[in-house]
Amino acid sequence: MATTDTFTQTLTAKQPRLLSAFEHIIAQNHLAHAYLFAGMDGAGQPELAYWIAQRLFCLNVSEGQPDGTCEECVRIANGSHPDIVTVAPTGQSIHVDQVRYLKSEFSKSAVEGNRKLFIISDAEKMTASAANSLLKFIEEPSGNVTALLLTTNKQLMLPTIISRTQVIEFPPLNAQALQRTFEEAGIPPNQAQLLRGLTNSLTQAQALLADDWLPQTVTALWRWFDQVVKGDPRSFVAVQVTLVGLAKDASQQLVIMDLIAALFQDLLQLHFQIDATELTFGQYEKELGTLTAGLNEQQLVQATELALTSKRQLASNISFQNVLEGLTLTLWPIFKNA
Ligand SMILES: [Zn+2]
Repeated sequence: MATTDTFTQTLTAKQPRLLSAFEHIIAQNHLAHAYLFAGMDGAGQPELAYWIAQRLFCLNVSEGQPDGTCEECVRIANGSHPDIVTVAPTGQSIHVDQVRYLKSEFSKSAVEGNRKLFIISDAEKMTASAANSLLKFIEEPSGNVTALLLTTNKQLMLPTIISRTQVIEFPPLNAQALQRTFEEAGIPPNQAQLLRGLTNSLTQAQALLADDWLPQTVTALWRWFDQVVKGDPRSFVAVQVTLVGLAKDASQQLVIMDLIAALFQDLLQLHFQIDATELTFGQYEKELGTLTAGLNEQQLVQATELALTSKRQLASNISFQNVLEGLTLTLWPIFKNA
């Protein structure tokens, strides 16, 4: 964990409710045998796992919090604590021999009576045989052992694993916490503002910045959007000429749909004069303000709903070009009657 904050500080910012839930669970001695921590990348799953580890092993717990500085806490933060066993994918998968190693550590602890904690990162990457091997361990709890499975792709987890763990869903982060996470990773503030409207995931945010796709797409989308809101027929042509070419795969198509929805939400927010730091397209704040001044609330609500509906159409296998052309055509009449 490359951060100077304690896990408590990070979780207080990212997931205050989950933090207080686990403070309570541990204080009551109600920790379950196996958890699945599921949520978007960056939502705080590893931080909560390491916080639990420190909370269980810390020599100076005070008011339900580990101190983060004692010998035990430091070894946990360094990844060198003998009773915290971590498993992560080697290459693309977590293999069965890694789970066997984990189980051998587990049987040792059962003999010695030590508390042990297993943390399995990217748990959805377990091979079928690794998952089956783990099932047995989860099904037959004994001793002072807790397994924490972390995932950013719960839909890829085997149902048998999900049904045998207590699933903790990590809610998406609030805007300020995300902005901070992205900026701490070196993303400039104005880009962080745009990206946090698209993803909770630092990994995905960094991937979106890896080439100039995002700025290109933002520029093209802005042109389309400005034309749509002004009822300009060129917006229909822009779909085929520029936007379709920018969406090379399904994930880029979804990002574009999210950006379109964010544009209308920004218009709506500005209309109600909500703080501009909440905007996704902060770079176009002035232009958005001019546009929204000529529109009424009903138009904005209708347009935002249409943009969100379009994303669902895309999920139901209508082609990207058809969805966007359809959206463009249904938006025109709304803005024409201004
Ligand atoms: Zn400590």
